[in-house]
Amino acid sequence: MSREAPPIRRPAVMEPYVPYSRQNIDEDDIRAVVKVLRSDWLTTGPLVEEFERAVAAATGATHAVAVANGTAALHAAMFGLGIAPGDEVIVPAITFAATANCVIYQGGTPVFADVHPTTLLLDPTSVERLVSPRTKAIISVDYAGQPCDYDALRQLASEHGSSLVADACHALGARYKGTPVGSLAELSTFSFHPVKPITTAEGGMVTTHSDALAQRMRHFRNHGITTDHRQREVEGSWFYEMTDLGFNYRLSDLQCALGLSQLGRLDGWMHRRQALARRYDAAFAETPEITPLIKQPEVDHAYHLYVVKLTADGPAKLRQEVFTRLRAAGVGVNVHYIPVHLHPYYQRTLGTRPGLCPNAEAAYEQILSLPLFPAMTDTHVDDIVGILTDTVGAVSSQRG
Ligand SMILES: *Cc1c(COP(=O)(O)O)cnc(C)c1O
Repeated sequence: MSREAPPIRRPAVMEPYVPYSRQNIDEDDIRAVVKVLRSDWLTTGPLVEEFERAVAAATGATHAVAVANGTAALHAAMFGLGIAPGDEVIVPAITFAATANCVIYQGGTPVFADVHPTTLLLDPTSVERLVSPRTKAIISVDYAGQPCDYDALRQLASEHGSSLVADACHALGARYKGTPVGSLAELSTFSFHPVKPITTAEGGMVTTHSDALAQRMRHFRNHGITTDHRQREVEGSWFYEMTDLGFNYRLSDLQCALGLSQLGRLDGWMHRRQALARRYDAAFAETPEITPLIKQPEVDHAYHLYVVKLTADGPAKLRQEVFTRLRAAGVGVNVHYIPVHLHPYYQRTLGTRPGLCPNAEAAYEQILSLPLFPAMTDTHVDDIVGILTDTVGAVSSQRG
């Protein structure tokens, strides 16, 4: 190391801090929630079905099943498919841990497949090498909001008699060859955590065309009980049966009111995210050492995340140094994700090791998520581009 890189000036617009993502709550949202507080139903009431119908309509799915969060949605999907001990489920190495954890909840074994280096989407050729007679399902991830290679993955799943599940937690609103995410796989899961495309604080949804799977998951979210309390009230009966071991994974009317209100603004938000992403892309076209992930031509990208790779031939700790300096400058950069098979839990329980998914591991050393949310201004983007470009230049020039 020859010299210290100069400190980065923080533009006034970064005060106090621009997070990588942020929810958008308006007076309509607040009114919608308050109205429920004054009503008879706080939890499972009429708005759960209304929100389910609205999400089914938005995604082109036949059924939508509301659950407590995106992780519960994945768990419900695994239960729906009957994943059990001895079953393998192929998952991408670059995702949030919940994508793999849901397989373990059912006693199955996640098998980690590699991702494509320019998109970080599940690579069908890696999946093909890993399918075995035990492969019961493939969970793809629409990473960063970009739909995965649905044609290739559906083809693979059907050739091997397994199910395709889409973890679409990043991708509500996205389309693949004109078809909305949520109707492209046997089951698709969504999250309504505050950083996701729309929020219910905590919340999730599973969409499907299958009547039988929808029914199984509705029971699963309510202890495996065959009727809910509203049905029993209507039927004037106290009788119910618990036919499976389920959970309390219900989403409340309060949360569904917020979700319904938010869903109306999804399209506008997605267009704003796309415009901000184009602005970042254009700026980085001039900077060879900052390489955005590639958007495939056949997709409408939801841009939950805007991810660049720092490809400068800099010091080994380039990304760490850039991350630290940007955070100090008020830019809420993040890293999505640590390859799941490298987490201590998976190394300990499944014996996964570095080297298993080389593209994922190499990408992990270079990726950085930049702030992206609908309320961001063009000036935010320009300032973040300026800070990042200066920082990468300064840190790269530090090599001795
Ligand atoms: C957020 C997320 C989940 C989990 O959703 P929660 O609502 O936080 O439980 C699962 N998979 C992916 C890819 C996610 O981004």
